[in-house]
Amino acid sequence: MQLYNKLSAQERAALIDAAGKDRITISFYKYHKIENPQLLRNKLFLEWNTLDVLGRIYVSYEGINAQLSVPSENMHALKNQLDAIDFLKDIRLNVAIEQDNKSFLKLKVKVRNKIVADGLNDDTFDVTNIGVHVNAAEFNKLLQDPNTICVDMRNHYESEIGHFEGAITPDVDTFRDSLDIIEEDLKNHKEDKNLLMYCTGGIRCEKASAYYKHKGFKNVFQLEGGIIEYTRQVNTLGIENKFVGKNFVFDDRRAEKITDDVIAHCHQCGKPADTHTNCANEACHLLFIQCDECAEKMENCCSTACQEMIHLPYETQKELRKGKHASNKIFKKGRSAVLKFKG
Ligand SMILES: [Zn+2]
Ligand SMILES: [Zn+2]
Repeated sequence: MQLYNKLSAQERAALIDAAGKDRITISFYKYHKIENPQLLRNKLFLEWNTLDVLGRIYVSYEGINAQLSVPSENMHALKNQLDAIDFLKDIRLNVAIEQDNKSFLKLKVKVRNKIVADGLNDDTFDVTNIGVHVNAAEFNKLLQDPNTICVDMRNHYESEIGHFEGAITPDVDTFRDSLDIIEEDLKNHKEDKNLLMYCTGGIRCEKASAYYKHKGFKNVFQLEGGIIEYTRQVNTLGIENKFVGKNFVFDDRRAEKITDDVIAHCHQCGKPADTHTNCANEACHLLFIQCDECAEKMENCCSTACQEMIHLPYETQKELRKGKHASNKIFKKGRSAVLKFKG
């Protein structure tokens, strides 16, 4: 019985090309007490592997958070499988706005302590006492209300390339940091203002809204299904779009375009750009925004040091890399000292 992914990303990409079939990128989450996450994890892996589903899925005692790439022809079978699991019956699936057959190249189902690394101690507040869910039309209406403060619950590198008009976009690297900063900023308006929050797919707001209610905020609203579901409603129902730029996503697509506005800047030369790239030096891998010209000139590197590095023989690069871990820098982007342009 195969319980783990065996193909490399390259092998998988070749298989997807050879199959020539459309895939759909979807996501869903559910907070729900799960007695045996490992058991559910194994069940899901077996079933989804059979359906040629790829993606990144976290299962924990508190629920499930899933981002998937599914062959179109297997969507129905997947839906049936989900409906057969009590707590996932009729779950809303967030369908990606921009489709890409290679959004995910592996099936990874992991058991984690939490489905979002939120840094919160859930025993200290009632996580089920969440805010009011609003749809796209209701969100727009609240956004226009002068009594509303709209807050982007994502990190700075996400809101940098796209956000709602007039939203507060905290300059933070983590969700946990943003909670305190926002509370401090809004501490005098806990009772008189509407706190309207949003994130990518809605999951972060589930926790954040409960946290802020616990902290004394009286009027807490959250965008149901996040930017992804908002955009779907805007497109299908003809509602006015208040989101500007790109929606950052955590798969190989990096972002989906919501409007043509480019609101960010190349981290190297400062000209308008909103394409994220990973530094080509494997020892660095810094994720940052780079315009086409800089990408060409710098050979997709973040600095001349990295550019020199990629021209060394591979064995020498490997030698120099030993013992160094780049992963902690990956999402620091604009923060890195090697990047000249600070927006
Ligand atoms: Zn540039
Ligand atoms: Zn680099």
